[in-house]
Amino acid sequence: MAEKMTKTEEEWRRELTPEQYAVCRQKGTERAFTGAYWNTKEPGVYLCACCGEELFASETKFDSGSGWPSFYEPIEAERIAAEADRSFGMVRTEVMCSRCGAHLGHVFPDGPQPTGQRYCINSVSLRHRAHDAKTD
Ligand code: FE
Repeated sequence: MAEKMTKTEEEWRRELTPEQYAVCRQKGTERAFTGAYWNTKEPGVYLCACCGEELFASETKFDSGSGWPSFYEPIEAERIAAEADRSFGMVRTEVMCSRCGAHLGHVFPDGPQPTGQRYCINSVSLRHRAHDAKTD
């Protein structure tokens, strides 16, 4: 796994857009059907918007009908950290970027095969990179 990235709240606030900061660092949620990627099908890789770690591949993206980009598995299990989230009177599993701790969304056990998992991710937590794009 890539080395951990730690930054101060002040650094994150400076580097991220207000929307990214609210979702990724304060565990907010973008409104369904409003994000950049809920309906995209372009091949490529989805990177962590905060640290650039490659988190999800377009091949595992599926149309969940939820209004958020949804994937049935991450590129590598270790790249995602999971934690119980008991907010809003529900018990959910929050998922974060292992490298930088960015809040990504939640994972639910109602996804398609082969994993049966649904990683429900905020678009604003991700950055899409086409397969043929230059690495930056
Ligand atoms: Fe990250």
